[in-house]
Amino acid sequence: MSEIETRCRTARCRICQEQTLAPVLDLGHMPLSDGFLSEAQLASPEKRYPLEVAFCRTCSLVQILETVPPEELFCDDYPYYASFSTSWLAHARQSALDLIAERKLGADSLVVELASNDGYLLKNFVEHGIPVLGIDPAEGPAEAARRIGVETLCDFFTTDLAARLVAEGRQADVVCGNNVLAHVADTNGFVAGIAAILKDDGVAVIEVPYLRDLIEHCEFDTIYHEHLCYFSVTALDHLFRRHGLYLNRVKRLASHGGSLRLFIEKHENRDPSFSDLLAAERADGMTALPFYEDFSHRVEAIGRDLHTLVSGLKAAGNRIVAYGAAAKGTIMLNFAGIDHTLVDYVMDMNVHKQGKTVPGVRIPIVAPDQLLADQPPYCLLLVWNLKKEILRAQDEYRRRGGRFIVPIPRPEIIEPADLSNAPSAR
Ligand SMILES: [Zn+2]
Repeated sequence: MSEIETRCRTARCRICQEQTLAPVLDLGHMPLSDGFLSEAQLASPEKRYPLEVAFCRTCSLVQILETVPPEELFCDDYPYYASFSTSWLAHARQSALDLIAERKLGADSLVVELASNDGYLLKNFVEHGIPVLGIDPAEGPAEAARRIGVETLCDFFTTDLAARLVAEGRQADVVCGNNVLAHVADTNGFVAGIAAILKDDGVAVIEVPYLRDLIEHCEFDTIYHEHLCYFSVTALDHLFRRHGLYLNRVKRLASHGGSLRLFIEKHENRDPSFSDLLAAERADGMTALPFYEDFSHRVEAIGRDLHTLVSGLKAAGNRIVAYGAAAKGTIMLNFAGIDHTLVDYVMDMNVHKQGKTVPGVRIPIVAPDQLLADQPPYCLLLVWNLKKEILRAQDEYRRRGGRFIVPIPRPEIIEPADLSNAPSAR
């Protein structure tokens, strides 16, 4: 199948507008990681876009150079529904309960969530009688949110939308945004919108994957076209200050391979959790290019080793399947060159993805119950961030002799005999 190469390269740093960005990693031409193909789409050529990562010496932001138009990335059939991960639901619920207690939220408060998806977070506030407003550009998840009583605007959050809500008298006590800041093309406009919509004594609580974890654990498959920025505390501090906001408190989380929960306010009141992380980044060199220099060699080694492992197992007559048709799975499979000739299918809980095909490598997506029906000897775990949850759920597969292959931080086989002392998920 022929492929279309597309270019929409950015010229300047997404935060500080610096024009000279230092290259860190080149993943080559990749399909859109969430662009799962329907049967009809299989007949058409696939689009591929360059995926290059660069570092800004001025503000320390790590970013990709390509900006795929959001209409192409987050279309009507955008397949991500947050509620399909039980561990993520529990994480969201706890974070909502903490906020309700800490901020003494009640019937007079307003909680606004940016990228509210299917209402997985806001429903916890609704249960407590707290008014909410979700904002999300994907119609499918937004409609699912409305069905469970979460008021949702189906739109992109911009400074214009923020101004409109403020004009309607809708300012927020709490603005939540989980795994969205890295996705927005107009980073500064998005943060300016947060500054506008937040009450003077309000707090924005934002979760982003942490660059430090990405680099140290070599989580390169979390780099894809939807993720434009890869944040350090140093870069975030630059970003918020530009808009009169202060990153006062930071909490490190295990979610998505290592994340930060940021607490941002309109008044400076620095907590040691912020100052300590900022100082550690400086001390360890994260604010300079050499810190990132061996990253691309480590990434290439994972791709090479995983391909050797999987193709070797296949050549020896083993059947191999994979688990987790997530965006990171698309990147891992395409980067390592593992296609439908090596892996029979990818399983995923999300019914919206089942029946479709992973882009680029053209591997069909099926329901997870296929694993026990087939009992293939090897299963490549693409969603390594959910290792603990999936190994527990697929306990029976492992008892019957099934082995998982975990690609990150280096390819490793989890033997069935190791059931009692299997390595725990991070
Ligand atoms: Zn910059």
